[in-house]
Amino acid sequence: MLPWTTYEAMYDAALNQPEQFWLAAAQRVTWKQAPVTACRTREDGWHDWFPDATLNTCHNAVDRHVENGRGEQAALIWHSCAIKERQVVTYRELQGRVAGFAGGLRALGVGQGDRVLIAMPTMIETAIAMLACARIGAVHVVVFAGYAGPELARRIDDVGPKVIIIASCSFQGQTPVASAPALNEALAKTTHRPQACVIVQREACPASLLPARDHDFRTLEQSAPAEPVTLRSEDPLYILHTSGTTGHAKGIVRDNGGHAIALALSMELIYGCKPGDTFFTTSDLGWVVGHSYGVYAPLLSGCTSVIVEGGASASAICALCHEHEVKCLFTTPTQMRLMRQESRNLSGAILPALARIFVAGEYADPTLLEWARSYFRKPVVNHWWQTETGWSITAHFFGLPEREPVPLMNDIGRPAPGFRPAIVPSMPGEQSGEIVLSLPLPPGCLAGIWKNGAIRVPTAYLDETGQYYRTFDEGMIEASRAVHMLGRSDDVIKVAGRRISGVQVEKIIATHPAVHACAVVAIPDELRGQRPVAYVVPDPEAEYAPSSEEIIARVNEVLGRWIGLKEVRFVRHLPTTVSGKITRKRLLVS
Ligand code: AMP
Repeated sequence: MLPWTTYEAMYDAALNQPEQFWLAAAQRVTWKQAPVTACRTREDGWHDWFPDATLNTCHNAVDRHVENGRGEQAALIWHSCAIKERQVVTYRELQGRVAGFAGGLRALGVGQGDRVLIAMPTMIETAIAMLACARIGAVHVVVFAGYAGPELARRIDDVGPKVIIIASCSFQGQTPVASAPALNEALAKTTHRPQACVIVQREACPASLLPARDHDFRTLEQSAPAEPVTLRSEDPLYILHTSGTTGHAKGIVRDNGGHAIALALSMELIYGCKPGDTFFTTSDLGWVVGHSYGVYAPLLSGCTSVIVEGGASASAICALCHEHEVKCLFTTPTQMRLMRQESRNLSGAILPALARIFVAGEYADPTLLEWARSYFRKPVVNHWWQTETGWSITAHFFGLPEREPVPLMNDIGRPAPGFRPAIVPSMPGEQSGEIVLSLPLPPGCLAGIWKNGAIRVPTAYLDETGQYYRTFDEGMIEASRAVHMLGRSDDVIKVAGRRISGVQVEKIIATHPAVHACAVVAIPDELRGQRPVAYVVPDPEAEYAPSSEEIIARVNEVLGRWIGLKEVRFVRHLPTTVSGKITRKRLLVS
């Protein structure tokens, strides 16, 4: 039971007495050594949550529930939209499989602090691999399975994994795509060499294992089980890459203790879920929402988590909600737009167990939210997130007895506890500007950036005073604390909820010998929210003019087709500021 009846009381408690607030929140998990301090500034200036306390995230997400009588409850329900298969894994089965695979990883030489790269689609085995790493203190690095070789190579070299885990194939629609070619291409480019690769064999497209390198996932699962190790709260749980503003994918590091507490609290406070409830996120496990709300938050809270491989249709989503009595559905505006398109001629869904729907990741226009409310006849809200924060910065709080104010329901809500947003106006006197967050950030946010084998202070996100974390999002804040988001202040493009920096695409286009300059900007896309458009200035000196097809092929080869680049506009020059910086916004109005 939450001790507050109103949003103000809850938010003010975290604001005015943060130590008490977070030490009380910390009681949601089982510690080996309970915390006595909530937050401590690190020697490097960043901060640690629950320093010196010890726990194991996997024990809290799995074993604890078996010990507490939830062994026969479904922990994970997986549905593949590609092969129309379904699997249900109870907490007891999950414990056995995770402990066995953790033992298998250990047999391959993986120990505490070692990185394990997991490049797999959303599958039960992906979650097992993540939890097995958490069990033995290894740091998992889940990489979107659709990345082409060069992107994969970059991430391998960034984190230096001891082991790489892949599935023998992923699916594009219903078509199997073998994973070994991208892995082999990546490994031909990397300077780092993993000690071993592990392959989950899938019937649709089995891989032939290389004897000296590859191991079978399911054989490793049969290894002698490994017990959860005791970890410090501040030890890293995982690294997840995001594209940033500089064009380099940054490895966001998440800790164990702060992450567990923030997620467990959010399940109750924001999503209004209790143990035994069913939570369904449509996000790929390779993205932050998949990490937080496909795996960790529901399992830490003793809930059942429904996860899906591939793009689920509206009818599949409704069928899963119906069959598994889903209480909360968490999806993206893009998915919602697809559902609207598919359900245009259908009468509304009848899902008695469904209490509410959440969307995040991109702007959701009020007409879309209104459509969803009338179709599902449930509250539907948007909330604001970043990979870096790991949970929502602003939200609507369904765990509180006080009802959310109706005028707030079409926006991203009010700050979650511990988030203290402020506006840095773009022009003096303006009410809107970049949203910054006072430090320290609450638990669950980035513990640092992975760089050259260590966890570093995320200096790229600090303002010049060092007091604020920059979100690079523009917005404004009302006296009621409601935050309004106006969009990204840098050049990050969101394609169907996935973030890609325009600079990353530009870098690839610029490798074409007949390209003089280029800029990549986002344009609205009815289905996928946004898609990139490339403005290319051909090199007048080149022997031949570049073609759209060549440029698109080049980008697809490096990044993968999901990026959705379809349009290349050839121009004579790009608009720039006086200092020579390209003004991308002006391209969109020209
Ligand atoms: P990612 O790290 O991929 O989750 O992307 C984070 C970015 O997505 C944020 O900085 C925002 O620009 C955007 N974003 C996330 N949630 C929302 C939302 N609810 N409304 C509008 N934009 C959002």
